[in-house]
Amino acid sequence: MERLFVDDCIFCQIIQNKASCTKVWENDEYLAIKNKFPEAPIDILVMPKWHIEKADTRKSPEIFWNDFMKAIWEITALQKLDEDGYVLQNNGAGYNHLEHEHTHILSGMPKLH
Ligand SMILES: [Zn+2]
Ligand SMILES: [Zn+2]
Repeated sequence: MERLFVDDCIFCQIIQNKASCTKVWENDEYLAIKNKFPEAPIDILVMPKWHIEKADTRKSPEIFWNDFMKAIWEITALQKLDEDGYVLQNNGAGYNHLEHEHTHILSGMPKLH
């Protein structure tokens, strides 16, 4: 699959080492970093290593989300969040501060029900 980048996307800049980040984990296709502007005591951003938005059909949704969730679960286990508890936050449409697809792994805040 072609890996597109968008010049003014901060995540694309981070992936290409044009902007700094605190890396938590990565594999060939996904990168996890600490959120510089955390919304919880632990706020890890997991993103594909290319610019893909919700409506992007270059990779089938089933394969994309399957691989994405495998990455997320690996990170939660490595960070011991599978013991401490965590919330996944995936925003869409107007609630997305950045259109580059990503999921927040949040932990350390009061539990939601
Ligand atoms: Zn991007
Ligand atoms: Zn976000």
